[in-house]
Amino acid sequence: MNKISIIVPCYNEEESLSRFYLETLEHVSAIPDTTYEFLFIDDGSRDHTLDILKLLCRNDENCRYFSFSRNFGKEAAMYAGLEHAAGDYCVLMDADLQHPPKLLASMYHAVRQEGYDCCAGKRVGREGDGAVRSFLSRSFYAVIQKLTHMNMSDGAGDFRMMNRTMTDAILQMQEYNRYTKGIFSFVGFETKWLEFENIERAAGTTKWSLKSLFSYAFDGILSFSTAPLKLPGILGAVLFLISCFLGVSQLLGQVLFHHPADSLTLILTVVIFLSSLQMMMIFILGEYLSKDYLENKKRPIYIIRESN
Ligand code: UDP
Ligand code: MG
Repeated sequence: MNKISIIVPCYNEEESLSRFYLETLEHVSAIPDTTYEFLFIDDGSRDHTLDILKLLCRNDENCRYFSFSRNFGKEAAMYAGLEHAAGDYCVLMDADLQHPPKLLASMYHAVRQEGYDCCAGKRVGREGDGAVRSFLSRSFYAVIQKLTHMNMSDGAGDFRMMNRTMTDAILQMQEYNRYTKGIFSFVGFETKWLEFENIERAAGTTKWSLKSLFSYAFDGILSFSTAPLKLPGILGAVLFLISCFLGVSQLLGQVLFHHPADSLTLILTVVIFLSSLQMMMIFILGEYLSKDYLENKKRPIYIIRESN
């Protein structure tokens, strides 16, 4: 019998939790030859989420809850859930039913029968999100894809079922600033994608403001790319070329056409040249910093998928 662990980060989800539990239970308990466990992570909720979780756990011995001392964020909640999960397969699901539980059976089939390590949901359509948010989101994924060279696409969220090997690989990534989409991509493994239509929240409101989305996007880029540290290098090279151009044109003017040197242009040339040197030095510092930054994350040097 294989065990499926369902990990659910919950932050102020009193309105949708019971419905989530009942609907998910219906689908997970219908998967043949498996047992299940729910791991609810109360991420410092300020409503009655914890009371509801205690009630659920009293009535179903396959339910466990972990309540954080304050709001640590969804990434921390997912990590805690994965760390405590005992299942052969782990699923990450939102508590608001935006991750349709009816996909669980096909996900299990993919990881159990079809040889995949992971089966992930990919949301298509963003009807509920508004034009500005959709545009910002698409632009962000285009940028992060370019900067990190990793496969992180719009709609590919956290909803996924993973086997034990992949779960353990994710647990090996012990960095504090966790950007799970990047982590999924970093650890690799064979993933099957199942598309599902965007669904409105069952109840309650999203926990993401535009400001928090911006900071999440920024975190994502900083966690998986050191490209911004190369900007002083580019700027330094441009300034250096400008100063060379100014210097050479001054010199040629003097030698060929006997123009007297213009003191303002001379000063400008020297200032731009010195700025370019400073930028180059900052670039070199950035290169050391980026190496040290990646070392500090202590990411696994390799991840084995299988061996004999
Ligand atoms: N969540 C969490 N901690 C937070 C914010 C959100 O555990 O600080 C949970 C939330 O309860 C939900 C999931 O993460 O189960 C996704 O959050 P939400 O639905 O607000 O995000 P969206 O679907 O709008 O991206
Ligand atoms: Mg949601």
